[in-house]
Amino acid sequence: MRCCIHRGSDQIGGSCVEIESNGQRLLLDLGLPLDALVDHPEKYLPNIQGLDGSDPNLLGILISHPHLDHFGLLNCVSPKIPVGMGSAARRILAAARPFMPGNWPDSATGWDYQDGHKFIVGSFKITPYLVDHSAYDSYALWIESEGKSVFYSGDFRRHGRKSILVDRLIQKPPSPVNVLLLEGTSLGRLNGEQNFLTEEEIERELVQAFSSAKGLVLVHASSQNIDRIVSIMRASIRTGRKLVIDLYTAAILEATGNRRIPQSNWENVALLIPQSQRVQIKKHGWFDLLNHHSANRIFFEDLSRQKEKSTLVFRPLFCRDLERNDCLEGAVFIYSQWEGYWERDSYEDLKIWLEDNNIPKISIHTSGHASPADLKEMVKAINPQKVVPIHTFFPDRYVDLFPGVEIHADDEWWEV
Ligand SMILES: [Zn+2]
Repeated sequence: MRCCIHRGSDQIGGSCVEIESNGQRLLLDLGLPLDALVDHPEKYLPNIQGLDGSDPNLLGILISHPHLDHFGLLNCVSPKIPVGMGSAARRILAAARPFMPGNWPDSATGWDYQDGHKFIVGSFKITPYLVDHSAYDSYALWIESEGKSVFYSGDFRRHGRKSILVDRLIQKPPSPVNVLLLEGTSLGRLNGEQNFLTEEEIERELVQAFSSAKGLVLVHASSQNIDRIVSIMRASIRTGRKLVIDLYTAAILEATGNRRIPQSNWENVALLIPQSQRVQIKKHGWFDLLNHHSANRIFFEDLSRQKEKSTLVFRPLFCRDLERNDCLEGAVFIYSQWEGYWERDSYEDLKIWLEDNNIPKISIHTSGHASPADLKEMVKAINPQKVVPIHTFFPDRYVDLFPGVEIHADDEWWEV
């Protein structure tokens, strides 16, 4: 069995690994680089034979989880190539697509992962392991062939709401593993034995911020970070606030297929449609979707009257409506995503809007990635012959943390 990291050996984002055995090939992830210009994703396609669907030896693409930097190039390859992912992940991508700009990848058919259930693709045996991450329905993948095996960590953490999944993996690891392809996002972000806040700690910080806010709380979080939406919901209940969501968030929450996740028809949840979404609904005729989520629909006049009793899952498309409808007196803005997006000038208009409206910004967030200490425990449990860095800006730091480190550059082929 041979392996080639096409992208990710020294960067975070755009992950893609090719595995070859007996002339047959599989891809692990096909992501868009984080700094890519999304108008022309095809420019970032790695040089892999058969992406046009012409090579039957390219058996399929196994996506670890529904983050753009892991699946974002799927729309640039032939739909004839089967795609594996979790079934909830597939539903989430399908639910998100209508709300996204043109190039949002289609959810092609293929294998639906089931946690711990092995399946066979050509000469490969694949076992998906559900893991804790900021994307819902994320997997690590164990690939066996020719008496050898590769364990691909995907993205994972051990401080979210599903940390028990990673505990379980550490207690009962796959064995034997020749190569562990290990993500190292946190290297360079945390040092030594430092840890990230847990999602429970995030909930406590949210409770504090919500209780001291005099008006509406705007929480800027990804609607696909389901752990975070749960934290916002729980903190809202604990502070007597209602969770207000738009149609996109309502559709994503339903697509999880998990009725313990907040839904638009829960009594503590309200649906609020911003003007630009109203236009979209009309234009595309999404009236069934709107009706389906309208059990608790409110309007901006209602929000204006109940602002101190509401938490809005904020997206910038709400700005003008909130301003026009007097919803902002005493408002607080909580930024609950990666600070890198904020620093990178992605939100210049939003920054001006907050300043103009005198809205203070608080940051409450935790990483979707394992701390170095948790990575170490994972390596110790799996006990692989080789640890190969991926999804990191600091491959050189692996040798200080793990035994058996072997660094491979992008596009280099090596034996497992
Ligand atoms: Zn991810």
